[in-house]
Amino acid sequence: MSANPARRILAVVTVLALLVLSACTAGGTVHARQITMGQPALSASPVAPSASPSPTATPTPGSLDWYVSQVPTFPEAPPPQPVPLPATGAAQFWHRLPTDQKVAFITIDDGGLARPPEVADFVWRAHIPVTMFLNSPAAAEHTDYFRQITVAGGVVENHTITHTSLAGRSYDRQKHEICGAADKLEALFGKRPTLFRPPFGEHDSTTLKAAYDCGAKAVFHWTETVHEGKVRYQTPEKVVHPGDVLLMHFRPALMDDLLAALKAIHRAGLTPALLEDYVR
Ligand SMILES: [Zn+2]
Repeated sequence: MSANPARRILAVVTVLALLVLSACTAGGTVHARQITMGQPALSASPVAPSASPSPTATPTPGSLDWYVSQVPTFPEAPPPQPVPLPATGAAQFWHRLPTDQKVAFITIDDGGLARPPEVADFVWRAHIPVTMFLNSPAAAEHTDYFRQITVAGGVVENHTITHTSLAGRSYDRQKHEICGAADKLEALFGKRPTLFRPPFGEHDSTTLKAAYDCGAKAVFHWTETVHEGKVRYQTPEKVVHPGDVLLMHFRPALMDDLLAALKAIHRAGLTPALLEDYVR
């Protein structure tokens, strides 16, 4: 795919518009992105890299400019229609969000293993909506890294303290893992997690009750995994469906994984959207 000067200009205009929005108002939502006041700016200016190269320059493969140039142009995401949550005293459990809207969701787990440095700038420049299910010790040790991604529009959610399997454990043990991480993540990022992903996807009815009691509205599994730039489907037809949740991790190839997820979502005629806009 060749670089697209029009898209590049549009990206610069959009970034400028976002800066104006964030400077003049308490917050603005554009393409499901949240600009939050009072948080530090990204390490690199989001405007300078895209403004300086000439329109005909071909980015070096593997560079941030190259990743941005490879991102497909998506249809505008539809206005989100949040899924109603029944009052059951337990968090909803979903593999995919039950919606017919033409959107899919990118989620990134863990945080302790690897943190590729350009992810925040990639998320910012390509407008990638991401939900991060973090283990609280990794979030505490590398807070600035994850905060940069929240400034770029990402949202932090809960993935326990110790990444232990919860299924079959007592309510108190599960609540300690879930509430303990929620308390820490809220203290670090100023927002209590409202979504939970159990380590390894392993959970039982106690997990859903404990998650609810710790502030989670929904517990998410996933429908596709992405690793080393390859999307693995859990159905033989190999297509992303509306409401699908793609799982990747903070691993060395995260830039490739993000790009692969975006291309798979685009091939399906869908647009990436922010999970939190659909679960309220
Ligand atoms: Zn995990």
